[in-house]
Amino acid sequence: MRNMKTKVRIVNGDGPDTDYQEAAEILKRGGLVAFPTETVYGLGGNALDEDAAKKIYAAKGRPSDNPLIVHIAGMEALDELTSNVTEHAKKLAERFWPGPLTMILPKSEKVPLGTTGGLQTVAIRMPNHPVALRLIRQSGLYLAAPSANTSGRPSPTLAEHVAEDLTGKIEMILDGGMVDVGIESTIVDLTEDIPVILRPGCISKAMLEEVVGTVTIDPAVNGPKKDTSFKPKAPGMKYKHYAPKADMTIISGEREKVVETIRLRAESATLKGRKVGILATDETVGLYTEGTVVSIGTRKEEGSIARGLYKILRDFDHLKVDEIYAESFEDDTMGAAIMNRLCKAAGYAVEHV
Ligand code: AMP
Ligand code: MG
Repeated sequence: MRNMKTKVRIVNGDGPDTDYQEAAEILKRGGLVAFPTETVYGLGGNALDEDAAKKIYAAKGRPSDNPLIVHIAGMEALDELTSNVTEHAKKLAERFWPGPLTMILPKSEKVPLGTTGGLQTVAIRMPNHPVALRLIRQSGLYLAAPSANTSGRPSPTLAEHVAEDLTGKIEMILDGGMVDVGIESTIVDLTEDIPVILRPGCISKAMLEEVVGTVTIDPAVNGPKKDTSFKPKAPGMKYKHYAPKADMTIISGEREKVVETIRLRAESATLKGRKVGILATDETVGLYTEGTVVSIGTRKEEGSIARGLYKILRDFDHLKVDEIYAESFEDDTMGAAIMNRLCKAAGYAVEHV
């Protein structure tokens, strides 16, 4: 159903108060407002209001067992939202907040199960974006804010992406331009002695380990297991994600072989009359001759690749390509997070050559 009037307001962190007031009123009435964060756009609703959470799930078409991240603007929220602020949590918050790190902690009574997907834990993050922080403060609420996309589609890095998916389904979109990081926050579970990464992001395992010692990675991060009894700790990890409409394949291996393989695939698909999209990098973009070739940035600056990734996947949808071939990325700092998103977009279709 798309029967609501969706207002769009162009904002920045220090613009006039009226837009923020209007947005805050909507949130206080239990409505939904999409807003920029440094990672991706979020779809905000009052985190302590179960009905607002229901609206978020409905607007996104998101399964209701996939919990929402609660966005805060001050450290005092940790005490209110959790039953135990662990030492690790204090240290990580001090080092990385505001920033792209989400922490899982035992929830307090105040947090409804409708926000946590029925779990006794809650995911919390303080975003590092002037619009997000100002909106949270102005509303006086904590905002449950999953990515502001239709469930399963690439996350929104521009307000236009939000409008594409959610116009008519939410009250307002605050347009703060292109986001900075471009992929979702790192999620770390702090409910056990050793912190566990449930979703990789631009804050890497090594960066976390500098602050809290040993950190492990949930096995679900690397893809679905053959054993179907296996349950990922972040419920969202079991769903198909970030997916463009075309069939997507990641080709991994030695750079030259990767390029050669993608060239051959693109040639044969084109001969069959299929429209091909190629996700290349600045280093290789000139080496492809068939299909729509797009560079997502230079390998020398993986931050630029993360920033542009989801937009390119959406652009391929608009171009109605049938097949997408992507180069792979090394499993280093940012590369791990980029590969994680690419693999999910491709439904884990990775070919080693
Ligand atoms: P999104 O809001 O779209 O960035 O997705 C939020 C992610 O956080 C999903 O993968 C959820 O499964 C995960 N998440 C949120 N709350 C929890 C929690 N309490 N325990 C584990 N994972 C969580
Ligand atoms: Mg999401």
